[in-house]
Amino acid sequence: MQISENKVVSFHYTLKNDAGEIIDSSEGRDPLTYLHGAGNIISGLEKALEGKDSGEHLEVEVAPEEAYGERNESLIQSVPRNAFEGVDKIEPGMQFQAQTPNGMQILTVVKVEGDEVVVDGNHPLAGQTLHFSVDITEIRNATEEELAHGHVH
Ligand code: ZN
Repeated sequence: MQISENKVVSFHYTLKNDAGEIIDSSEGRDPLTYLHGAGNIISGLEKALEGKDSGEHLEVEVAPEEAYGERNESLIQSVPRNAFEGVDKIEPGMQFQAQTPNGMQILTVVKVEGDEVVVDGNHPLAGQTLHFSVDITEIRNATEEELAHGHVH
C-alpha cells in the first residue's frame, strides 16, 4: 500500500540540524503515526512521504519555509518578571508554554535584565533546515472517524 491522502502512516525517524546534531528521534519509542494529507506533520516531510511504500527508507531535507518557517524577530519581546508566577529561577534557554491569540506557543528565555525577561516566541526550529532520516513501518486506511476528526486515533 502506498502513501496517499487518507492513509494512516507510521514511521520511525531521526531529525538532525545542519550541524548534524540529533534534535529528535523516535528511537526507543513507538513510531510516529499520522493521517496523511491532513497537515498533521510539517508540509515538507508530508510531501516527501507521498507515494512511498511500507519498508522504505528516506533521507529528507526540509527548508524552513516547509518546516517551522523563517525566524521573525518581532516575536522577541520583553515581559515583566512577575508574569512568571511560581517560577523561582529564570535562566536563558528555559522554555515556557504560553496561551496566545495564535494558540499555544513555546517561549524561550533569551536573557533576564532586572525585572524584565526577554523571551523569543519563535518556534525553536524556526529558520532551520531539517534533515530527516525516515523508515516507514506501516500504512493503513484511515477509519471514517479518523477522517471526520482529521487525526489518528
Ligand atoms: Zn478524534
